[in-house]
Amino acid sequence: MYRTHTCGELRMAHVGQKVTLSGWVAHNRNKGFLCFIDLRDRYGITQLAFSESDNKDLLAKAVELGREFVISVSGTVRERESKNPQNATGDIEIAVEELTLLNSSKVPPFTIEDQTDGGEDIRMQYRYLDLRRNAVRKNMELRHKIARAVRNYLSDENFIEVETPVLIKSTPEGARDFVVPSRMNEGQFYALPQSPQTFKQLLMVSGFDRYFQIVKCFRDEDLRADRQPEFTQIDCEMSFVEREDILQTFEGLVKSLFKDVLNISMDEVPRMLYSQAMELYGSDKPDVRFGMPFCDLTDIVKNNGFAVFDQAEKILAINATGASVFTRKQIDELTEFVKRPQIGASGLIYCRVEADGSLKSSVDKFFPTEELAKWVSKCGSKPGDLILVMAGTTEKVRKQLCELRLELGNRLGLRDPFNFKPLWVLDFPLLEQDEETGHWHAMHHPFTSPLPEDIDLMQTNPGAVRANAYDLVINGVEIGGGSIRIHDRGLQEKMFELLGFTPESATAQFGFLMNAFEYGAPPHGGIAFGFDRLCSLFGGSDSIRDYIAFPKNNSGRDVMIDAPAPLDEIQLKELGISVRN
Ligand code: ASP
Repeated sequence: MYRTHTCGELRMAHVGQKVTLSGWVAHNRNKGFLCFIDLRDRYGITQLAFSESDNKDLLAKAVELGREFVISVSGTVRERESKNPQNATGDIEIAVEELTLLNSSKVPPFTIEDQTDGGEDIRMQYRYLDLRRNAVRKNMELRHKIARAVRNYLSDENFIEVETPVLIKSTPEGARDFVVPSRMNEGQFYALPQSPQTFKQLLMVSGFDRYFQIVKCFRDEDLRADRQPEFTQIDCEMSFVEREDILQTFEGLVKSLFKDVLNISMDEVPRMLYSQAMELYGSDKPDVRFGMPFCDLTDIVKNNGFAVFDQAEKILAINATGASVFTRKQIDELTEFVKRPQIGASGLIYCRVEADGSLKSSVDKFFPTEELAKWVSKCGSKPGDLILVMAGTTEKVRKQLCELRLELGNRLGLRDPFNFKPLWVLDFPLLEQDEETGHWHAMHHPFTSPLPEDIDLMQTNPGAVRANAYDLVINGVEIGGGSIRIHDRGLQEKMFELLGFTPESATAQFGFLMNAFEYGAPPHGGIAFGFDRLCSLFGGSDSIRDYIAFPKNNSGRDVMIDAPAPLDEIQLKELGISVRN
């Protein structure tokens, strides 16, 4: 038998028992006539003791064991002389009587510790060793716990998990497809699903009523820190529902996850219209852990002879509570921050509301105190606050001020990762227009239904049509998004037409779905949550990679297995593919 207990299990109550443990050598402390080994497995660490007086041969064997050797030991649990309260098993040790070497190990390329000496690249190359570390393994355990809670909640709500295929035809979720060549159909390709969108809608036509799937999705996008080419969604769809039913059901899911996994009771999730979110926070995923909404100063600051304002379409401000104490240097840093190419602002204007109420701005020349007082009253500023102002075109200034607001939130310590503030964002525009080509694109995807009252606008003013769509945002991160779907062939055709499809191309790509709509498609809608993101959010981290067992790096590579990789000639030939050299 390899083990009677795990390495995290033994306590004072076990003293005197004969036990067998198996695991990895985490540390080996050789003191000459004594040797202590920390034996590690997934569950914890237990100290093994060897001594010359107990068994000289065994001691000689023990001192030879290197880090990460795999061993099995039998012995008696005894109370430790010097206890370690940091460790759950720190009151006891095993007086070892038998030792079996199960496997040796090379010296690992980095230490298997919470604080490792290994950099990102080497840890990714040896991910199987990285996963031995507590911190990483705990993330996987959290992921499992959340997945289980999702399955429990949705199963209790009558959802059934159905697997949909991975080798499919393109689904338009706005990214490029990963494609797989078909050997049996030379010159033809499958696409990997960007999401199971069309399949879950077909399941509704089939009468499945409530579907979910924890499912891999694939999007060939340029990678950012929080993106992976393959990622996991909690994908859901329901029939005979209106938007309100979906919001209630999935608010229930999110609340139950917070309760089950983090023991946090959530209040009702507040709601905000997309238009409000853009106006107040310059973002469709506002971080509402803190206030600092935008104040529109356009009407009160224009035409005062200050060219930057006079020429701008929009002048927006935020009031940073208690930030009048920022030094000149700190304000210069913020100015540099907004001038970075990623943000691209030309400058930042400020007005300090000093503790005594006096006003000091960077544009005093143009704005005497009585003018600045209007800023103060518009922004609701109090003594001790700092007003920061940016000007430009509406779209740009919103984006830039949004970045500044988040940066201020960081600097003022207002973005505690364990303070969870969810928000539903509703009524997104159905379509967005490409600035260069003038083409309309679906903001969510082409299966999203317009709000019923906006359907007529599809012909006359497509840009004004609101979608029957919703996003769940938590702490400024889009965690989920979905919509009520079109279930009527005519409306779906109209939508494709607006998106620039000819009837033939729409039929070629989505005929199967539109045909299905002619066989009794029920009204339906759904949502998908980014599962990796949800896990990282629950773990208090920004990086989804930490919550994926075998992630890809920033260039989309798996450096451990070294993928992607070239194929050999024979394989290429079989697939009928020729590669340029
Ligand atoms: N398929 C959508 C997505 O992946 C989610 C949905 O509309 O349910 O974003």
